[in-house]
Amino acid sequence: MTFDPRSLARPWLLDVVPYTGEREAHGQDGLTLLDMNENPNGDGDGNTGLNRYPGPEVRALYARMARLYGRPENHLMISPGSDEAIGMLIRAFCTPGEHSILVNPPTFGMYALSAKVNGVAAKSVPMLADAKLDWTALSDAAEQDANARIIFLCTPQNPCGTAVPHDEILAFAKRHADRIIVVDEAYQEFADGPSLIDEPAGSLPNVVVLRTLSKAYALAGARIGCMIGEPGLVAIVKALQSPYPLPTPSVKAALAALSPAGVAQSKRQITELKEERDRLAAALSQHDDIETVFESQANFLFVTMRQADAWHQTLLNDFGILVRNQTKALPGGLRISVGTPRENDLLLQALGLAPAPKADRKAELKRETKETSIYCAVNLDKPGPSSIATGVGFFDHMLDQLTKHSGIAMVIATEGDTHIDTHHTVEDTMIALGQVLDQAVGDKRGILRYGHFDLVMDEARAQAAIDLSGRAHASFDGSFKADSLGGLQTEMVAHCIQSLAEKLRATIHVSVTGDNDHHKCEAVFKALAKALKMAVKIEGDALPSTKGLL
Ligand code: PMP
Repeated sequence: MTFDPRSLARPWLLDVVPYTGEREAHGQDGLTLLDMNENPNGDGDGNTGLNRYPGPEVRALYARMARLYGRPENHLMISPGSDEAIGMLIRAFCTPGEHSILVNPPTFGMYALSAKVNGVAAKSVPMLADAKLDWTALSDAAEQDANARIIFLCTPQNPCGTAVPHDEILAFAKRHADRIIVVDEAYQEFADGPSLIDEPAGSLPNVVVLRTLSKAYALAGARIGCMIGEPGLVAIVKALQSPYPLPTPSVKAALAALSPAGVAQSKRQITELKEERDRLAAALSQHDDIETVFESQANFLFVTMRQADAWHQTLLNDFGILVRNQTKALPGGLRISVGTPRENDLLLQALGLAPAPKADRKAELKRETKETSIYCAVNLDKPGPSSIATGVGFFDHMLDQLTKHSGIAMVIATEGDTHIDTHHTVEDTMIALGQVLDQAVGDKRGILRYGHFDLVMDEARAQAAIDLSGRAHASFDGSFKADSLGGLQTEMVAHCIQSLAEKLRATIHVSVTGDNDHHKCEAVFKALAKALKMAVKIEGDALPSTKGLL
């Protein structure tokens, strides 16, 4: 049987011609815009463009999200949060009082709530006790009720965090090829397994996948979600969309989050959240009152706990910590979002678990100028994972030396105006790196403060000495024969040290001798790395200064 979404759609949606202005066709660059009754007055020099209806940015976001999810643009509907798409799907395919949806409690409450506000029944097929889907009961329910038009699945599953096996969803979707299967993947970025959108386009015509920027991209406040499906089905749902559903500031925030710097940032945050999730899970499983910690593939943990209501109140009233009481969904159930390492430590302390280990010294920043877009993060207390991508090959090689030999994890993603030359890219990257290193060393309590290293590399020899004094001073003694090494102008080596010293607020002296420019340059960065490693090392808890301030 070939699945035809038109046969399920509410009939009057089939010939809706979605509203599009002429700007869609012509673009608006260079035009005097007198077509939409907007107020022509922006807000001066810092014009945010909010006097205009959203337009070009939205098209850019469609292009960007299509690339992110590996599907053509007409397979996507971007909506104000995926919550909105849930309601729209129900309105597009279910007639109030006639059709129904199937849900698997405990599950995300919006499916049933959206059904209710649209006058559509939500029929429950409860999960099995171990938070696994009851496929047999779900199949029976679908087969017994031809009016059950949409089946909502959620993986990783909210509230339990468990992933529904990919092959089981595929088999179910193929078996019920006459229904719409909505697979809500709001937390997919935190999962180890594949996404349904990795399946070849066209292979699952009745499946709609929901994704969101709310979780992995830290944009819950911007309300940007995405529905992904076959173009025919997507077009039917889109017929319900109002003309300008996505506010310009949200679209701009989404574009920034999906820039190379934004993606690098989110990747690092996901890694950290997953590490924290696993740390938290291990610690919680030691608690006397916690019976089960469900294996989570999301950015939260679900536990069943003796005295769960009382614990929920204690955490709130005595410690100001709010976790989600899910005792109605599952007896003893509490859902706990993974927070920052500090927040997680507070929770563990409140539960009387593990004295809070000292948090890693780390920092991150996103820096956008007309010349460069940079994401930079460091962790002084972990050697990795690191990733360096500046678009300047030899400079990447040098930064790789810096992270490797300093034992400082660095994530650096720079997109610069290298079509001009590599100057801005290199300079701004070092500025960003200096800033995050300075933030990460924090109040400098307990650090060695001074670091030095004498490093040989074949015929080359470099010496680096650092004082994290709070005062910027740089000195470089050395010269190169070549103007440039693999895209890095050699005059930038001294400039790198200067930029680093300024932003790290450190005194840095470097000298190099030798014959081979590649060796000399590499020796400089390695010596710098080793000196930095020593300077940031913790040796006690005193402030290494007689002044009492660094
Ligand atoms: N699906 C699930 C499973 C969720 O948990 C949530 C939000 N908590 C959403 C969808 C809604 O996401 P959005 O912010 O994109 O509306």
